[in-house]
Order: sequence, then C-alpha cells, then structure tokens
Amino acid sequence: MTAATRRRSDLAPGAGRGALPALTALVLLAICLVFTFVMAAWHRDVGRVLSASGDSIAAAVAGEVDRNIELLDFSLQGVAEQWDVPDVQALPPRLRDTVLFDGAMRAPGFGMMMVLDRDGRLVARSVDVGELGASFADRDYFRVHVGNDDVGLYVSKPFRSRVSDAWVVALSRRIDDDDAFAGVAVGTLDVAYLTKLYAGLHVGDGSAVTLFRTDGTVITRAPLDEGDVGMFAGGGDSFNRMRAARDGTFEGASPVDGLPRVISFHRVGDLPLIQAVEVAGEGPYSAWWRRAAAIAGLLTLLCFGVLGLSLALARELGRRAAAEAELRRLASTDALTGLANRRRFDAALPEEWARAAASREPLAVLMVDADSFKAYNDLFGHPAGDLVLQAIAARLDEGARRRGGLAGRWGGEEFAVTIPGCDEARALRVAEDLRAAVEGLALPHPSGVGGVVTISVGVAAARPAAGGAARDVLADADVALYRAKAEGRNRCRARASAEVRAA
Ligand code: GH3
Ligand code: MG
Ligand code: MG
Repeated sequence: MTAATRRRSDLAPGAGRGALPALTALVLLAICLVFTFVMAAWHRDVGRVLSASGDSIAAAVAGEVDRNIELLDFSLQGVAEQWDVPDVQALPPRLRDTVLFDGAMRAPGFGMMMVLDRDGRLVARSVDVGELGASFADRDYFRVHVGNDDVGLYVSKPFRSRVSDAWVVALSRRIDDDDAFAGVAVGTLDVAYLTKLYAGLHVGDGSAVTLFRTDGTVITRAPLDEGDVGMFAGGGDSFNRMRAARDGTFEGASPVDGLPRVISFHRVGDLPLIQAVEVAGEGPYSAWWRRAAAIAGLLTLLCFGVLGLSLALARELGRRAAAEAELRRLASTDALTGLANRRRFDAALPEEWARAAASREPLAVLMVDADSFKAYNDLFGHPAGDLVLQAIAARLDEGARRRGGLAGRWGGEEFAVTIPGCDEARALRVAEDLRAAVEGLALPHPSGVGGVVTISVGVAAARPAAGGAARDVLADADVALYRAKAEGRNRCRARASAEVRAA
C-alpha cells in the first residue's frame, strides 16, 4: 500500500464506527437521568402526601385531646373559684362535694377530683381516695403550685390510680384566697380514654400515635403497649425537634421505638403536651420501591438491548466501511506493483499541486521508464519481467514515501513520482538516487546498459504559486525522459520547465 492510499484508507473504515454506540449510550444515559428525576419527584410526592396526611391527623387529634382536657379544666377552675365561696363552704360536706364535683364526674374519661389545702392535706374529694386530712404534699401536682401562681393548668406524668389501678394523669389548678395560696384543685383523666380517641384513626400499618409531655414522658400511645406509658422518650434528636417547634413534619427515628417514620407533631393547645403521629414510611414507600424497581429493571433490559443492537449495527457498519475502503483501495491500486494506479495518480497530482500552491513550495515530477524492457521480456519471459517491475516499483515507492511524495504506475514499464517541496536541482538528485538504487539491484539484463536492469528518469519541477498546471510539469518530465533515452538510457535528465516547453 502506498503512502497516499494509506493516508486515505486509515480513516475510512473506523470513522464514526464508535460514534453510534457512544451516541446511543448518551441517549440511554439521558433517559436514565430523566427516569431518576421522575422517580425522585415521585418519591418527594409520596413524602409530601405522607406529611400532609400525618400533619392533618396530628392537628385534629391534638385538638380533640385539648378539648377533653379543657372540659376537665373548666371543672377544676369551677372548683377553684367556688371553694372559698362562704355559701358553698357552709353546705354539709357531702352536699358541698356534690355541688363542686358533680358536673365533672359525669364527663367521660374523668376519674376522681379532690381539693388539697395549702399544706397539701385532703379536704374534699369526689371518691374515696383517702382519709380527709391525708397528706398529698409530696405530689408533683401539688408542689408545682406552691409559691408559684402562674403555672395555670398542670398536667402530671401518668401514674397508676390508687382508686382504680388504671393509668391516669392528674391535672391541677391553684386555688387562691385573696391572692394568697389556699390549696390545689386536682382531677384525673384516664389514659385509656385518651387512647380510645386514637382508635378510629387509620394511619397505616406500623404507624403510631403518641401523646408526650414536653419533658419527654410518654402519656399514651396507640397501638398501646403498657410498657410505653410513663416511659422517658425525650433523649433523641427527633424529640428535640418536636420540642423546638409548635408543629411540623420531618423524617426521623421514632422517639419511642426508634423505627424510621414520617413524624408530624402539634402542641396541644397551650399545654406542655405534644401530640405526634408517626407514619411508617415503609408502606407507602414500598409501593414506590416496587414500581421503581420494576421500571428500573425494564429500563436496564431496554438499555442493554438497545446498546447491543447499536453495537451490532456499528460492527456491521464497520465491516461495510472496511469492505468499501478495501474496494476503494483496490480500485486505486495497481495490482502488480501495489503502487497507485494511473487513475489514483491522475487524481493525486492536482491535489499535490494545490497543496504546493498553498504552501508556496515547488513540486517535482519524475517520469521513469525501464530501459530495453521488451528485450528483457523476450529473453526471460513476462513473469520474470513482472518481478523486475515489482522490484523497480518497490524502490520508487520507498524513495517517494521517504520524501512525502507519491509513486504511481503510469502504464506498462513506466512510472511517475511526485516529490513535494523539491526544486529541479534537488529533484534531479532524488532521481539519481532512484536510478542508482535500481542499478544497484544488479538484476542481470544481457542487453541492458552495463548488463543489468536500469531505468531512465525525466525530471521537471515548478512552483505552482507562479501559475501553470500540473499536467505541464508532467509533460515536461516526459520530454526530459525522452531526452534521457535519447542520450543513452540509464540516466536522469531535466530542463527548466519553461525551457523544456519552449523546445
Ligand atoms: P526503451 O528502453 O526505449 O523503453 O525500450 P523498451 O523495450 O523498454 O520499450 P518498449 O516500449 O519497446 O517496450 C516496453 C515493453 O514493456 C513492452 C512490454 O512487453 C513490456 N511490458 C509492458 N507492461 C508489462 C508488464 O506488465 N509486464 C511485463 N513483464 N512486461 C511489460
Ligand atoms: Mg516505455
Ligand atoms: Mg522502456
């Protein structure tokens, strides 16, 4: 293969072969990115729906708890206000207690009510919680009001009622007598009653509804686990987030069981209570995961399929491109010598001429003819003659390639060579090198010059930038070749192009 045919054919078969799979991969990547984006948006939507539903449930339940506590608080406030009314105190104790406590005791969920004096001693009660005069001074719901008149309604930690043995929380209000501390009105609320409020809520499998005190104590929880009531759950990040705001929604570990949840929370009125709804993300998200995995699986299959097809197509295109390149190469190559054939040379010459014009360099053309070759064929036969032509072609090809030129078979035992960037004097030296190289092969030719195979070379060179045409230089080289033949063969001749044309 010659330098020029190689220059052309190196690019042709592979050009763009990798582009198709690369482009396909790019398109698939874009599709995967869109898929990821859509799935992420979907995931966010699932989260938003969870948050919205959790938030509205938490708000509704907090309102419900607040209303129930408010009812008991109204009764406590009534007791606190009426306790010092002389007419009430003047009533017989049993009647007085009925007046004070009766309304509250009929409300659902309320346990007992009682009044403690300024020393924490029991002075009135709705049910038998102990002897009158018994001291409750050590209870938190009493002590919190001593020396502190702005507690308002106090909600205790849950504890087991001495009367009913059920879990209750105590609510207490301070009783003032002319702005001085006169005692405490206390009422209890059944934890089980609060838990019942949650029973109708459908927050999904694995979800939970919890009422906390702001100090982290669990008052009640649904589904109810007795062990949870009264436990401290205020140690973690999730609880700190709930304590830091009035309401909100976030994803985090449940303060009670540590499981991941979407937690919505609301303060209960102005009370130090937090109502939380912990929605298990697994349910809603698992549907998302299932669909995401199914679509991702299909997409992966599709990607591999399309990529495989694209690779196969690229391979086929590559094979065709290579075959076409080979055909092109064959169509432009001389079968015997492997040099550029006449057609290729004819096409290359104007290209080289244009290149030389652009670079303002000269272009030299060598016309080469084997000497007395008919005689060689006659003596040794055509096949032997073919081998000689191949040997001559190899020398010319090597010489041309080394100088960035092109050697072609012009026809029969004639060749043409271009040498770019070469003026006539240098071209003549190149021609002489080639001639000497063929002579140096020392192929016996009894009727040749000096008894060996030789060539004659006609040389012409011109500067395309100065005008003229490539075919003129070729013609000049041909004239010079005839001169070399006429002067005895096995030699190189040149004349300045203009001079040669003038002759
Ligand atoms: P001159 O030195 O004047 O060039 O003499 P010549 O015998 O080489 O020139 P001529 O034109 O009389 O003969 C050319 C010969 O080249 C004739 C032909 O047999 C031979 N020839 C042309 N093509 C081929 C070929 O492909 N193979 C072989 N073996 N010989 C060829
Ligand atoms: Mg000839
Ligand atoms: Mg000849």
